[in-house]
Amino acid sequence: FLPHLVASMEEVEQTYIMIKPDGVQRGLVGEIISRFERKGFKLTGLKLFQCPKELAEEHYKDLKSKPFFPKLIDYITSDPVVCMAWEGIGVVASARKLIGATNPLNAEPGTIRGDLAVQTGRNVVHGSDSPDNGKREIGLWFEEGELCAWAAVQEPWLIE
Ligand code: UDP
Ligand code: MG
Repeated sequence: FLPHLVASMEEVEQTYIMIKPDGVQRGLVGEIISRFERKGFKLTGLKLFQCPKELAEEHYKDLKSKPFFPKLIDYITSDPVVCMAWEGIGVVASARKLIGATNPLNAEPGTIRGDLAVQTGRNVVHGSDSPDNGKREIGLWFEEGELCAWAAVQEPWLIE
């Protein structure tokens, strides 16, 4: 299987997925991780983490001028989050589809936000919006030693 794995490497992306404090408090951690696992993506980083204010502000720096920014920072730093790095072909856009629209009332049923949330300010999960931001955010939230490169035995049954 090795030649096939090498050939697909260039399409492989990384995305940063985070279960926000409401997802942790509401006991949705297993449910949310399951959705990415069952889809067929590979988990390469995972931790429960109490986010410092400075990191939340850096992560959401593009939203600094928005009126909801202070509340967003309070929300993200209010209690632990679950930080995850996921890898796969097309994982960035696909994860955004699995997550659903920012406003959970507009998110399709079947998506995480569509099934599990009702308000933008409590939308349970974050997903990077581009491959570049995937790399940037994984770099922000993880130390190098916290990430694992590993071969998934199911891969030949997921990717032809
Ligand atoms: N957010 C909010 N109010 C808004 C818009 C966004 O509280 O009117 C929060 C919400 O938690 C959202 C996050 O800011 O997930 C980042 O906003 P973005 O537009 O990047 O949405 P996302 O990429 O998370 O779907
Ligand atoms: Mg965003």
